Amino acid sequence: MIASIKIVEGPVWRYYNCPDPQWAEKCSSCRRQISAEPAVCVECVNCWKVEIWKHGKAFYQVDFDRLMDRVHLISDAPVIAKASRAPIQVVRTGVPDTGYPDLVIDDLLVLYARSIAGREALRRLVQVSLGLSREAADLIPVRRGCWRFDPVLGPWQSWYPVDSDWPEIH
Ligand SMILES: [Zn+2]
Repeated sequence: MIASIKIVEGPVWRYYNCPDPQWAEKCSSCRRQISAEPAVCVECVNCWKVEIWKHGKAFYQVDFDRLMDRVHLISDAPVIAKASRAPIQVVRTGVPDTGYPDLVIDDLLVLYARSIAGREALRRLVQVSLGLSREAADLIPVRRGCWRFDPVLGPWQSWYPVDSDWPEIH
């Protein structure tokens, strides 16, 4: 790995470029919000995940560390991500559903973005890093928020217009 990529190992996930070693998960603020009040909130709406399943349909297998190295080299900003340390259940809640592996369990690398533009920028970084066609890159599944919230809030596509960000005041 490139030394400037910060790695934190947890019991289930290997985190890349996390803000600090105590950082448990990107979505802890989403979880806090939802458990305090089960309603769609800005943290979840502006929380996009790009799901790189190792045996997904966009490419022929991926080495996550090598991909993160390549993404890091061409990205303007550190890319926040986590990779499962062992195969996990393939949960098919993202779009397109045709991009998922034909497996029950698989390794997963999750890349995080805070906006739709950011999400698509990540897709392009992966496309370039892996030498994919645009059509192949479009097979990489993405979703908004965490799949654990769907039973509480309904399917994520119903939370907010799927092509819009929730405006954030800075
Ligand atoms: Zn989140």
